[in-house]
Amino acid sequence: DVTATEGKEFEDFFLKRELLMGIYEKGFEKPSPIQEQSIPRALEGRDILARAKNGTGKTAAFSIPMLERVDTARNEIQAMVLVPTRELALQTSQVCKELGKHLGVEVMVTTGGTSLRDDILRLHQTVHIVVATPGRILDLASKGVAKLNTCKVLVLDEADKLLSQEFQPIVEQLIGFLAPERQIMLYSATFPVTVKQFKERFLKKAHIINLMADLTLKGITQYYAFVSEKDKVHCLNTLFSKLQINQSVIFCNSVNRVELLAKKITDLGYSCYYIHAKMMQSHRNRVFHDFRTGNCRNLVCSDLFTRGIDIMAVNVVINFDFPKLSETYLHRVGRSGRFGHLGLAVNLITYEDRFNLYRIEQELGTEIKPIPPTIEKSLY
Ligand code: ADP
Ligand code: MG
Repeated sequence: DVTATEGKEFEDFFLKRELLMGIYEKGFEKPSPIQEQSIPRALEGRDILARAKNGTGKTAAFSIPMLERVDTARNEIQAMVLVPTRELALQTSQVCKELGKHLGVEVMVTTGGTSLRDDILRLHQTVHIVVATPGRILDLASKGVAKLNTCKVLVLDEADKLLSQEFQPIVEQLIGFLAPERQIMLYSATFPVTVKQFKERFLKKAHIINLMADLTLKGITQYYAFVSEKDKVHCLNTLFSKLQINQSVIFCNSVNRVELLAKKITDLGYSCYYIHAKMMQSHRNRVFHDFRTGNCRNLVCSDLFTRGIDIMAVNVVINFDFPKLSETYLHRVGRSGRFGHLGLAVNLITYEDRFNLYRIEQELGTEIKPIPPTIEKSLY
């Protein structure tokens, strides 16, 4: 349920009365989880990188703090929301107008496909917040009509799209027009590499919110074991003897390592299949089918399989090789939508992996603990 958060109320954020009125008139009673996590940090002026599913209230999550931070006594552009489509620009500006109805905040929407002259005329009047698609506002900023050097808040909604090849150069040019002490907030349903690179380059100590991980990693106990590369197989053997595995999926980072490891596991005396992208499709199908029907207990695979581990009987996932990206980690370990199903993830971490471990933990807002001597069966 999008709106069901136990604790917080909108009052708890110490917002202006007029803004609270707008919020309640819109029919919002309590902040949704993404709003609860975004609003306080955004009000502090922190950069934000937030990931949450569609329909969970991201628009208000950035609009409320943005509206709160606008000073209507100053007749200048103070915040800008970029979105990838014209329809979304209209919709978002509408939400801002409604929420800010009693604040006297002036919201302007500007997109391609409309009269540039009208936009120029509009910009001669008071504008506090601009909601725009990137091309048009860059045009206006380049002409010196939209003065963005007073704009201290930038929101990229649907950030993954805005940072795709099509838009990224425009977005970066726009950032060049902003006030140097700007706050940047990114909202996105996925964090592709482009978003990460953008974060490294433009965000300062970003507050990271990830409500996708919240859902997908729920019920999965995650451990790591520090091992050297040469001790990995030995470590795996120990895990096999200690854990009560229904079925396991074991991930390697390359096709060659998949085949090699599968052979070593078989040599240790455990039933084991492998699957990777360079195998014939018919062969892959057969392996997958056999694994699914439980004919085989352990499956070694490459990331080909990461989005497919939707097999109930799998209670243990082992990262024989630790992934480099949090997305990969999430897809390997997480089993989205399988509420109430417990699982165990064990990560073999070499010295070189250690920073990736900390980063992935942070990016996903999850905890990966050192593996204890014994693991209670009730956890998985
Ligand atoms: P997202 O951008 O995450 O896909 P939206 O911001 O478009 O989601 O919001 C989805 C719907 O939820 C909208 O109809 C919005 O009015 C509604 N909504 C957002 N926040 C709340 C809230 N706190 N209480 C009730 N409804 C809300
Ligand atoms: Mg949205």
